[in-house]
Amino acid sequence: MTSGLDIVRSRIAAAEGDAARPPGSVRLIAVSKTFDADTIFPVINAGQRVFGENRVQEAQGKWPALKDRTPDIDLHLIGPLQSNKAGAAVALFDAIHTVDRDKIARAIAKEIERQGRRLRLLVQVNTGAEAQKAGVLPQEADAFVARCQSTHGLTIDGLMCIPPFDEPAAPHFALLAKIAKRTGLRSLSMGMSADFETAIALGATDVRVGSAIFGVRG
Ligand SMILES: *Cc1c(COP(=O)(O)O)cnc(C)c1O
Repeated sequence: MTSGLDIVRSRIAAAEGDAARPPGSVRLIAVSKTFDADTIFPVINAGQRVFGENRVQEAQGKWPALKDRTPDIDLHLIGPLQSNKAGAAVALFDAIHTVDRDKIARAIAKEIERQGRRLRLLVQVNTGAEAQKAGVLPQEADAFVARCQSTHGLTIDGLMCIPPFDEPAAPHFALLAKIAKRTGLRSLSMGMSADFETAIALGATDVRVGSAIFGVRG
């Protein structure tokens, strides 16, 4: 039977080919938020190792046991982080895509030091400057990335964005790529079920795909 995962994998391969990018250059993050272990198992058994969750507490409930069974799981936090959860997030996740203010950068830096952990860190950019959305504003991104590196001593790997849902995504992906280029960052976390091919055409290195793999969330 062809699974959602198989279909997404082949669509990613086709998009890599169309963009003349090397096969395997795009990392698929399977976004498993709201789905329980029984739904996640078959996807792990099909060889998927990179997963994304948007809430620390939900991830704490299901991932420690899953990680015990499959030690090479690569778990990414893709939702907003509160500073009082920084310790738990640094302990559980292998990557955090939502670094977006000094308070969080400072808390993450402190926990990385205290726990002796290594994590991939990305700065979230609010490319649509939406009031309700997390992320640093595009015009403040360069200075914030610089502060993460110099003031907070963090290694920033790349940038992440969630475009406004009622606008074409491409201009937002292009803007994120432009900011990454001028700040010298190589990872671009962009593209979800509805638009990951567009994101790959514009340079995404990490696509975050939920419903196209797991089905509609309840
Ligand atoms: C839920 C979520 C996704 C996945 O969305 P789908 O449309 O189900 O693919 C990607 N990124 C973030 C930040 C999310 O919260």
